[in-house]
Amino acid sequence: MFDTCVNLHSEQFASDPWGVVERGLHSGLSGMALTGSCLASSQLSIELAQRNPDNLCATVGLHPHSARTFTNEMFAEMSTLATRPIVRAIGECGLDHFRNFSSPKEQRDCFIAHLELAAQLQKPLFLHQRDAFAEFIEILDTHAPAVPTLVHCFTDGLSELQTLLDRGYYIGITGWIADKRRNQSLLEAIPHLPLDRLLIETDAPWLTPRNIPKFRKIKANEPQYLPYVVQAISDATGHSAQTIIEHSTQNARQFFGW
Ligand SMILES: [Zn+2]
Repeated sequence: MFDTCVNLHSEQFASDPWGVVERGLHSGLSGMALTGSCLASSQLSIELAQRNPDNLCATVGLHPHSARTFTNEMFAEMSTLATRPIVRAIGECGLDHFRNFSSPKEQRDCFIAHLELAAQLQKPLFLHQRDAFAEFIEILDTHAPAVPTLVHCFTDGLSELQTLLDRGYYIGITGWIADKRRNQSLLEAIPHLPLDRLLIETDAPWLTPRNIPKFRKIKANEPQYLPYVVQAISDATGHSAQTIIEHSTQNARQFFGW
């Protein structure tokens, strides 16, 4: 079982990020990708992944929320980090118009810089998209290199899913699928997601799966709760948990070259 998105740089994990990794591996996960969403979190992901390169890898990127902090100097530093072998994908990068912490123009320029970096390094792309689907696809169709591509934390419906599958992308599913308040379109879409495109993720510390008993007592989501995402996917698709684990682990192996 491989957790595709773990954000160890977050405040919730500040006192002991490595403990989060250890609890995940002890609970039976075979690996995880430590996500970079700014310069500092990219550096931390690399540093921690290097402690156990058999089970961990890192990504390097600037999240669209932080696109307004983009400078050429910072991106040059990130580009150098991204050449390290332990870095298996460029991102998180993409568009997020849900809150627009950065302007759409800042997000767009930052996103395109990442697509160019992935092209230059020939590394996979780790994408984030919320409330910006049409522009996201337009930018990808114009600028995306032909590298393995993952749209992480997919929460949209069937037509968006089909658009991404038509382009050969991998799809990351989080605990969003267990959230009855907002999972309706995702539940309709997911039976149409082929097993060879599926990746599973916690997006820890966020999106704690609401099918965990005593979910309300959990302060931060962690990789050790990934089996609850598997269970929710199993409930929605009819595939056994074992089938979901086998395919998503194999897909992670292919996507991250891990
Ligand atoms: Zn994201």
